[in-house]
Amino acid sequence: MSQRRLPVYLILDCSESMIGESIASVQKGVDLLLRQLRSDPHALETAYVSVITFHATAQQVVPLSELTEVQAPRLEVRPGTSLGAAFKLLRDCIHREVRKTTTAQKGDYRPIVFLLTDGQPTDDWAAVKKAIGQVTNPRIANMYAIGCGDDVDFTMLHEACDAVFRLDEMTPEKLKKLFIWLSASVQSASVAAGGSGGDKAGGVDLTKKPAEVEQVTPGMYHHDGTPRQVFLKSYCSQKRRPFLIRYRYLDDEEYYVATAVYPLESFVDSGVKFEVPPINSSMLMGVPPCPYCGNESGGVCGCGGIMCAPSQLPATVRCPHCLQSVEMAESDGDFTINQSAG
Ligand SMILES: [Zn+2]
Ligand SMILES: [Zn+2]
Repeated sequence: MSQRRLPVYLILDCSESMIGESIASVQKGVDLLLRQLRSDPHALETAYVSVITFHATAQQVVPLSELTEVQAPRLEVRPGTSLGAAFKLLRDCIHREVRKTTTAQKGDYRPIVFLLTDGQPTDDWAAVKKAIGQVTNPRIANMYAIGCGDDVDFTMLHEACDAVFRLDEMTPEKLKKLFIWLSASVQSASVAAGGSGGDKAGGVDLTKKPAEVEQVTPGMYHHDGTPRQVFLKSYCSQKRRPFLIRYRYLDDEEYYVATAVYPLESFVDSGVKFEVPPINSSMLMGVPPCPYCGNESGGVCGCGGIMCAPSQLPATVRCPHCLQSVEMAESDGDFTINQSAG
């Protein structure tokens, strides 16, 4: 008779808003979790790990495997936050990978799922609900969500998960504490699974929760729908390489201010179209320097493409999108700009 396993699924948000320090810290966190679990004899014997990532699409980057066989995935950000697709994929993976109890054998323990996200889903809400509904009834897993930052819709997470937690920001130090806690929880659960305790292997160990991680009760955080961050995908007009500009909402001013730029490896078009409304230029304050050529201004071509531009205007710039020559001039008027999907 085969050993009963404790399946652990990590669902990781790899949307654009995770770019920079966040995704690097999550990467370190996953490596740390795997190291911790591999050093624990109970976990080594019982825990099996899978990793699902999501952006425009959801993909299982690590199939459910024993700890010694798990290769830490390289996490990469892409546009989109398809949480609904991630839930659907989770349901399919559990259906396929987790052994059910039959008359001949006891099945695996109920899986533990840790979902880490920093944003609101960009896929359609009805699909999310449907996927969640099927996850919820009957319970196929003990599901825990950790929402990070100010753009998380906690109401939605409550509909999907058994318990919801919050991390106010994704600094390396805070994420490290989070992942130490998650590994400690899996370690506790694998000890319980190895004992004579019956069918329940448990979930998160609240006694070990670090102070930086706050448990969220329904209604505790209300999201009014105003995105706290906006992302624009721009191009260097000289080097024709893409970068992302992050804007942060200022409540008192009621506009967004530029806070960072991130060079992008390549322009990844998944072919998935997002319902992200264009934003009025009057809502955005500041243009950070181009990370490739240092141009200190920016502009929008008639084709809709965004690009860096010299600070001395007017100037003629070749649009890196449609390759037409564009006359860039100072503009006081409002115009609309296409957002990236976060
Ligand atoms: Zn440039
Ligand atoms: Zn153009």
